[in-house]
Amino acid sequence: MRSTSSLLHKLKTDYPDIFFIPGDTFLWDPDLKTVFYVNDGPQSKALLLHEVSHGLLQHREYKRDIELLAMEAAAWDKAKELAELYHFPINDAVAEDHLDTYRDWLHSRSSCVNCSATGYQSGKETYTCPACNAEWRVNEARICELRRYKVKTQ
Ligand SMILES: [Zn+2]
Ligand SMILES: [Zn+2]
Repeated sequence: MRSTSSLLHKLKTDYPDIFFIPGDTFLWDPDLKTVFYVNDGPQSKALLLHEVSHGLLQHREYKRDIELLAMEAAAWDKAKELAELYHFPINDAVAEDHLDTYRDWLHSRSSCVNCSATGYQSGKETYTCPACNAEWRVNEARICELRRYKVKTQ
């Protein structure tokens, strides 16, 4: 099944500055200006437009994890715009599922390791707890690279 091929063809024509490379996951690489995509997943078209949207919005660095979540939401809004342009609908549930993976990720990073209150991000890779003053480190996560979105098969 090559469900993305005609859309891909249009995207390559419309956005000649973006490279498209088939892979085993969806991601936008800002340094390579490349969208990596999976050809035949159930939500391939939606995810393809999502990664293209990261590119069009020139997403790269973020200082706070919450900014990453905002970027993800912005990329889905843009993807929905593009979907209308290319005449196919994006199911809202796909966008919400995707954003949920980031919300869960943010929640687990910001939960205090000591008392499970919600901490605030005090540095690029550190959080501090307002309740017990504990400080903890989190792993670096880069946009759409480490937060890989697994294509669900229903
Ligand atoms: Zn994304
Ligand atoms: Zn705490």
